[in-house]
Amino acid sequence: MNMATKVERLEEPEYDDDAPLYEARRKIYPIAVHGTFRRIKWALLIITLGIYYLLPFLRWDRGPNAPSQAVLVDLANGRFYFFFIEIWPQEIYYVTGLLILAALVLFLMNAVAGRLWCGYLCPQTVWTDLFQAIERMVEGDPRERREKLKTASRTQRAFEAAAKHSLWLMVAWWTGGAWVLYFADAPTLVWQLFTGTAPLMAYLWIGILTFTTYVLAGHMREQVCTYMCPWPRIQAALTDEYAFNVTYRYDRGEPRGSFKKTEALRAAGVAAGDCIDCKQCVAACPTGVDIRLGSQLACIQCGLCIDACDTVMNKVGRPTGLIAYDTEMNVERRMKGLAPVTRVLRARTLLYAGLIVIVGGIMVATLAMRGSEGVSVIHDRNPLFVRLSDGSLRNAYTLRIVNKQSLPRRFAIAVEGVPEARLEVVGGISETENGHPVVEVGPDQTYELRALVSTSAKLPANASLPVTFSVTDVVGGETSTAPDHFKGP
Ligand code: SF4
Ligand code: SF4
Repeated sequence: MNMATKVERLEEPEYDDDAPLYEARRKIYPIAVHGTFRRIKWALLIITLGIYYLLPFLRWDRGPNAPSQAVLVDLANGRFYFFFIEIWPQEIYYVTGLLILAALVLFLMNAVAGRLWCGYLCPQTVWTDLFQAIERMVEGDPRERREKLKTASRTQRAFEAAAKHSLWLMVAWWTGGAWVLYFADAPTLVWQLFTGTAPLMAYLWIGILTFTTYVLAGHMREQVCTYMCPWPRIQAALTDEYAFNVTYRYDRGEPRGSFKKTEALRAAGVAAGDCIDCKQCVAACPTGVDIRLGSQLACIQCGLCIDACDTVMNKVGRPTGLIAYDTEMNVERRMKGLAPVTRVLRARTLLYAGLIVIVGGIMVATLAMRGSEGVSVIHDRNPLFVRLSDGSLRNAYTLRIVNKQSLPRRFAIAVEGVPEARLEVVGGISETENGHPVVEVGPDQTYELRALVSTSAKLPANASLPVTFSVTDVVGGETSTAPDHFKGP
C-alpha cells in the first residue's frame, strides 16, 4: 500500500444546514511560543514599531529656510520631506509611484511565500501581537487565565483587567501621538501637547487613533484579518501552486494519534504519523486556525504554529518541520514518491521583480534628474487673444515659477515660437537680463505672474503656434521650460 492510499488527507468539517449563518465569536487567547518564527516576529515588531515611534524625532539639516525634520508631511505649505527628498504638490506622482512599488512588492512577497505581509509586517498583526504580549504579561498564559477564573478573587481579577486595559490605552495613545508628529515639528508638538497649546486637530487625531488602535488591536484582533480586510480574498487570486505557505505536512503527520498510541503502533511495526494530536499548533495560533485542516482564509501565515509544533517534535524526539513553509503540491508529490519541486524563479516572480526594478529605476532616475526649479503655464481662456490698436495680436498667460532651493534665486523669462514676439511680464520685475525680464523667487517658494506675448507678424488664419516659455537661473544657468500655444483669429 503506498502512502497515497494509506494517508487520509484531512478531517472534513461537518456542516449543519440548520446552524446559524454566522458563528458566535470565540475569544482567542494564544499561548506564548518560542522558536525561529517567534524570534523573527519579535525582531520585526521592534524594528517596525521603533521606526514608527521614533522616526519623527530624527533631525535632518536642510538649511535655515526649511524644516529640519527627516520625515515630515507639511500640509500647511504643501510639502513632503523625506530625508534629502522634498516632494512638491505638483510632484504627487512620486507618491503614486511609491504606491505602485508597494503593491508590486506585496505581489512579489505573495508569489514567493504567501501572506508574508499579513504574518509579519501588517500593522494589525504587529499591534495585535504587542497587545497579546501585554495581555499574557499581566494576566498570564491561557492556562493561568483559566485557573484564575476559578481561584483568583474578584479584586485581583479586576486589578489585572484594569492594568491590562491601562497599558493597552497607553500604547494606543502613543500610537496616535506618534502619528500626528509626522505632520509638525515633533519636539515642538510634544511640548505643545503637554502644555495644552497644540492645535485642536492634533488632539482630535490622537483621540481617533487611540480609540481605533485600542479597539482593533485590543478587542477585534483576528476579526479584522478574517472579516474586514480585503487582502486575503485578493491574494488568493495572486498565488499559485509554487508559492510557499505554512503547511501541515500530512504525508508525515497522518495517521495521527496520541504519543503513547503512535509509539505503541510503531513498536508493533505499524505505520503511524508524527502528529501526536496535542493541538499546541492550534493553541498558539492568533487566529484560532487548525492548520491541519489545510490552508484557510483566516490563516495569516505567521509561522507560530511551526514554532509550537517544532517544540513538540523536539520533546517527543521526532524531526522538526511537521508544519513548515511548503506547498500542497510538494506534499502530494512526496505521497506519490516524487521529489518535491522548488521554483522561486518563475514567470510570475520574474515579472513582479522586473516591474519593481523598472518602476524603482524610473523613480530614482527622475528624482536624480529633476531640476531645482520649474515653471508651469496656463493660457487665458477668455479671451483667447486680443487685437491691439496698432493691429498686433496679444495672448495672455499665467506663469508659476518654482524655486526648490533654500536660497532666493533670480530667473530670466523668455518665450520662443512666435515670430517677432514681444514679451511683457506683469509683477515683480527686478531687472532685465539681455532684454529678458527677471523676477526674484524666494527660497523654497513659488511665484505667480502674468505674461503678455504680442506680435505684429502676419499669422495664418486660425493660427495656433506652439510656444515655449523658459525660466533661466541668472546665476546658475539652470533652465526649465513649459509649452503652450499662441492663438490667432
Ligand atoms: S495557522 Fe499557523 S501560520 Fe496560520 S495564523 Fe495560525 S499560527 Fe499563524
Ligand atoms: S503541534 Fe504538531 S504534533 Fe501537535 S497537534 Fe499540531 S501538528 Fe500535531
